[in-house]
Amino acid sequence: MNRREELAANLAEVRLRIERACAAAGRDPAEVTLLAVTKTFPAQDVALLSDLGLTEFAENRDQEAGAKTAEFARLRPDAAVRWHMVGSLQRNKAKSVVGWADQVDTVDSERLADALAKAATRPLDVLLQVSIDGDPKRGGCPLPELPRLAEYVARKGELVLRGVMTVAPLGMSPAQAFDALQGAVTRLRDDHPAANVTSAGMSGDLEDAISYGSTCVRVGTALLGSRRLASP
Ligand SMILES: *Cc1c(COP(=O)(O)O)cnc(C)c1O
Repeated sequence: MNRREELAANLAEVRLRIERACAAAGRDPAEVTLLAVTKTFPAQDVALLSDLGLTEFAENRDQEAGAKTAEFARLRPDAAVRWHMVGSLQRNKAKSVVGWADQVDTVDSERLADALAKAATRPLDVLLQVSIDGDPKRGGCPLPELPRLAEYVARKGELVLRGVMTVAPLGMSPAQAFDALQGAVTRLRDDHPAANVTSAGMSGDLEDAISYGSTCVRVGTALLGSRRLASP
């Protein structure tokens, strides 16, 4: 099997998993975006996935992403894709990140929101990263502080609040975690009806995330294969 065939087979399998999870939850698969997390994999893989119809891609490190997005643009100058930043982000990288990212999925503080707003040269889509267990090491805004951060971001003209993102914490089952998130998201939408994205679920837990209302699953391994430990 060549790489294109391998990626096509993986993509078909992931789409099937999404369809089955949606069927089990009584949801329409069109409500769930597949976000391909291409960190550590080459721009050539992004090109092949784009040929296979994917349009949303994510990276977690600014430096790697800057080079890869430029290389992809050379490989597929006519492809209309959107790039997401899904890694933790230091404020001094804001300017560089807005150079390649269409959406930043990891906004977890007012200070980071300030830095992104200042750096943005056009309205920047953002998700608020939520920490379900409140562990500061893993990034994310603790659930109780979410309404305040949402209010703050919503007032920034340069940022467009699209919704929330979370990584299920280690100490609880994904189902428990996504259940807790769903409650907070329901309350958030009362105040911010347009913030309707819930990005939750990865290769290992996308079924649980979909059953609790996720509208975006971020898939790396199941699409591209296993990664070496560090990004190149
Ligand atoms: C790497 C990564 C993913 C994808 O994880 P897989 O388990 O490989 O699917 C999803 N979200 C974030 C934030 C990541 O860094």
